[in-house]
Amino acid sequence: MLTETSKASSKRFYALKKSDLLAALKTSEQGLSADQAQQRLAENGPNALAQGKKRTLFQRFFDQFKDFMILVLLVAALISGVVAQEWADAGLILAVVIVNAIFGVFQESKAEEAIDALREMSTPEAHVRRGGQVETISSEKLVVGDVVLLEAGDIVPADVRLIDSASMKIEEAALTGESVPVEKEAGVLPDEEIAIGDRKNMAYMNSNVTYGRGVGIVVGVGMGTQVGHIAGMINQAEETNTPLQDNLNSLGKTLTWLILVIAAIIFVVGILNNHDGLPMNELVINMLLVAISLAVAAIPEGLPAIVTIILALGTTRMAKRQSLVRNLPAVETLGSTEIVASDKTGTLTQNKMTVEKVYEYGHLQNAADPITGADMALKVMTFSNDTKAQGDGKLVGDPTETALVQFGLDHHYDVTSELQKEPRVAEVPFDSERKLMSTIHQLADGKFFVAVKGAPDMLLKRVTQIQTSPTEVRALTDADKQEILAQNKGMATKALRVLAMAYKVITTVPEKPDTNNVEQDLIFAGLVGMIDPERPEAAKAVADAKKAGIRPIMITGDHQDTAEAIAGRLGIIKPGDDKAVITGAELDQLSDADFEKKVKQYSVYARVSPEHKVRIVKAWQDQGKVVAMTGDGVNDAPALKSADIGIGMGITGTEVSKGASDMVLADDNFATIIVAVEEGRKVFANIQKSIQYLLSANLGEVLTLFMMTLMGWDILQPVQLLWINLATDTFPAIALGVEPTEPGIMDRKPRGRKSNFLSGGVGSSIIYQGILEGALTLGVYGLAILFPVHASNDAMHADALTMAYATLALIQLFHAFNVKSIHQSIFSVHPFANRMFNIGVGTSFIMVALTIVVPGFNSLFHVTELNLLQWSMVLGAGVLMVLIVELVKFFQRRAGKE
Ligand code: ATP
Repeated sequence: MLTETSKASSKRFYALKKSDLLAALKTSEQGLSADQAQQRLAENGPNALAQGKKRTLFQRFFDQFKDFMILVLLVAALISGVVAQEWADAGLILAVVIVNAIFGVFQESKAEEAIDALREMSTPEAHVRRGGQVETISSEKLVVGDVVLLEAGDIVPADVRLIDSASMKIEEAALTGESVPVEKEAGVLPDEEIAIGDRKNMAYMNSNVTYGRGVGIVVGVGMGTQVGHIAGMINQAEETNTPLQDNLNSLGKTLTWLILVIAAIIFVVGILNNHDGLPMNELVINMLLVAISLAVAAIPEGLPAIVTIILALGTTRMAKRQSLVRNLPAVETLGSTEIVASDKTGTLTQNKMTVEKVYEYGHLQNAADPITGADMALKVMTFSNDTKAQGDGKLVGDPTETALVQFGLDHHYDVTSELQKEPRVAEVPFDSERKLMSTIHQLADGKFFVAVKGAPDMLLKRVTQIQTSPTEVRALTDADKQEILAQNKGMATKALRVLAMAYKVITTVPEKPDTNNVEQDLIFAGLVGMIDPERPEAAKAVADAKKAGIRPIMITGDHQDTAEAIAGRLGIIKPGDDKAVITGAELDQLSDADFEKKVKQYSVYARVSPEHKVRIVKAWQDQGKVVAMTGDGVNDAPALKSADIGIGMGITGTEVSKGASDMVLADDNFATIIVAVEEGRKVFANIQKSIQYLLSANLGEVLTLFMMTLMGWDILQPVQLLWINLATDTFPAIALGVEPTEPGIMDRKPRGRKSNFLSGGVGSSIIYQGILEGALTLGVYGLAILFPVHASNDAMHADALTMAYATLALIQLFHAFNVKSIHQSIFSVHPFANRMFNIGVGTSFIMVALTIVVPGFNSLFHVTELNLLQWSMVLGAGVLMVLIVELVKFFQRRAGKE
């Protein structure tokens, strides 16, 4: 039921005064209490867009019968009952088809469940103030009246009326089609109809905050938001197919036609031969059933669902290893990744900054050396800073900035009380393009203090004077500049991140503070050097990547010397190899064509902005490479989208960047990327195994039937074919999908963009192994005729057919072991290591064996009991299948095909 608050979004909230707004929504600037929020959530439901309607279990079951072949099969079975009075056959066919449909529903549900779980894992988070405390909650828990804090990089989690804003810009393309971010400002708009794009004090769900910050009150959630209205109008159900699934679908179509043609030939030849001398009408129905059963058994209709399940199981395993895959195709692409371009800070390093050096008044000093608030360097670094101290004293914010505040506190500089004396009144937020950040503070004498910190090279361009002692300032000379740059280099080559500090005092605050009217004519105050240690596991992960033929590339906003030093320590480049390093400015000088020619040379990109990342991705992609790229900022979104695998950061990443990613690292760790690639390779290899297993089995079935008909021998019965399909397809195929990693999977080169699931010898293996399965089955049939156990002709034929049935079914299960490795001997890949496989193959085996050994089933399935010798022949064929394939693998390995 919708209550008053959930319909809120249609009202003119933009025209209300703040007090009226708060009163209308029964809230305050301190936010709702936990109880209020709980109650509103219970009343109005979660803040989520309604999903497309789910099919009921019954509908899903029913959908399984929409397959034309199944319908024809059912009709033919019915006719065979009516005309030939074979009611048992007809009933059994019906039963098998129903069980098959149940399996189908099960497979589809598993696949859907996994996709839903993926969706759940990727719901964005929101920062709210409740009961005066700032909390981070899943955006689904937001309710009308909540106070939401927004900053650059956030996805607006609901429809919000702004009550506070600082340099705020929001990109509302999803709503208005306008991709240029619009400025937003808290304030009151006239009480008249205003177009959505012009409502400057409103922020709408799913738009992106690209700059600045703000505070807003939630006025609409879920389907009550503007996007909710749009979503309500369009069909939500979106299905993504992976390229692999698309490939499979088209292969499936080709195979279907091929099998139908063969089935038709079998039908015609079977009638012409009339092996059993049946009356015409019975003969036609019988052959029709055989042909259709074969088609049903051999057409790999379950393959796409099986592939989805395998991909989904892969994502579950990846989640346990800290990588959250946001869409299924990513799993498949990950395995083929050739280039991993990673941010330095936080991904390769720990993002735990500590100040090590300070340079001021012409001296380089250590962190422990005395420094006070009278030193402008310390004042600026702690003023131009967004760090917040929590109740327990813990500092929260960007590690670069918390390090600076911590440094101040270590020197007994009480940042909080200093800021109370000289509060911030305006700011120009940090952005990674200009690499600067400024804040403006009210001074006691009515003037204003401007604190600017940022990348030394950027800041120096805006400096005209220099502080030479706590009380002296003079004009900046070229010699000063050279000295500062030399100090910067000295620290950077020791892998320190260096920031410069500058300030000035002004009399009026510009109406719209920006870089041009604030960050000019500054007084240089000093440099600070911070260490950000490498992640302990990063160097090994880099080495692992290289061994796996993956090229690691480091991208950073930091100075080239810092970048080079760290890349050298991590093994991304040889220490001192500055030819492998390029800066953003140098990159700007290169045309796309020139850059493409030289892209292979560079492993480190320093002082780059997010827009360079797109060029890096494109240049590598033009070389035909599969590129993974990390990103955390709002401006990284285009690069994350254009990469084959966009990788977001779970801890430090903005919601916008996560939304643009294919995969999110829960631990922000480079090593996790390499682990995910390994999982991706494994999943792809396992899908290949399933495909190899299924298609070679189907080929074996088709060949057996084809030869039997052509030669005028006994022909396998429809129920037998259908049972083989039911018992031996699904379980082993899915179980092969969770095979453990084959040894050496990360010692190979990436499979590359062009390969598909039949590459690497899988296609040819399917063909020869399918032929082998068919040949061995026919061989067993032939032996049974040549060396009969029973004297009577009828019994001999019944025995032979039973043995052929058992062989065709069981040989697949033996073959499942072969498929565990395309080139390795099964004895070297632990044949029984996969429990699920053992259970899957065991179940299939029992299902087949039951039809022969249980007396009652004998007649239903048209089989006879087999004696020990006959069983030995059947199982012997299976053993032979393994031995022959082992032999082929042996020669393939000798020929170097690995
Ligand atoms: P990486 O690209 O390795 O992940 P990063 O994301 O921290 O590093 P940016 O945030 O783009 O890179 O920072 C680039 C440069 O901007 C830094 O080298 C530093 O000189 C400067 N910088 C970083 N953070 C701040 C900040 N909070 N205030 C002022 N300047 C900063």
